[in-house]
Amino acid sequence: MKLYNIPEHPEALLFDMDGTLYTNPAYMQFQNRSLIERLARRRGSSLEAMQGAIAAYQEQWAQTQGGQGLSLSTTLVHFGISLKESMRWREELYEPGVYLKADPKLGETLKRLGAVYALALVTNNPVLVARKTLAALGVGECFQGIVGLDTCLVSKPHTAPFLKAAALCRVSPSACVSVGDRYAMDIAPPLTLGMGGILVDGVEDVYHLLFEESIRV
Ligand SMILES: [Mg+2]
Repeated sequence: MKLYNIPEHPEALLFDMDGTLYTNPAYMQFQNRSLIERLARRRGSSLEAMQGAIAAYQEQWAQTQGGQGLSLSTTLVHFGISLKESMRWREELYEPGVYLKADPKLGETLKRLGAVYALALVTNNPVLVARKTLAALGVGECFQGIVGLDTCLVSKPHTAPFLKAAALCRVSPSACVSVGDRYAMDIAPPLTLGMGGILVDGVEDVYHLLFEESIRV
């Protein structure tokens, strides 16, 4: 866990979902692979060739943008798949309940954090997928706001989803802390808004937030 610019009196925690509220490499891999597989079929290409083309495009983009990340949704737009269409693909392909099960420890952690802070979810998945994921983890009632790909129609690392989450929590950006597993997506953009950031390795680190000195519970 790594902390960045934590405000003296944080009021809201903005959580990333995938790779943050659960650690499940097989499901994470499935999410990317199933989208790229469908794109490959659409273009009459092999999965491997499509994966290579996407990785090359993202790498080239990062090089010209000073290391900034590019979400898969935004990358797919370059390959001719609109945001709206890739959202539909995600809604059709992803069944979080197949991979994830209730996590009582996460539930208890979020309940205790939620007693002190406003909690929001900021994800590059559509809200429907977010709701199914939270339900599978047994934490469906823990967040007062959910910002998905269909909320702002732009994906992280765009800053709009973070500002929307702060607004849903009725908290100024400078009193928010973003918690996520990818620096370029979850931490760098909020830092530019004056928010704090906590980079986690997975849900184990989220459990440990309760014992973090700068996070009072
Ligand atoms: Mg993540």
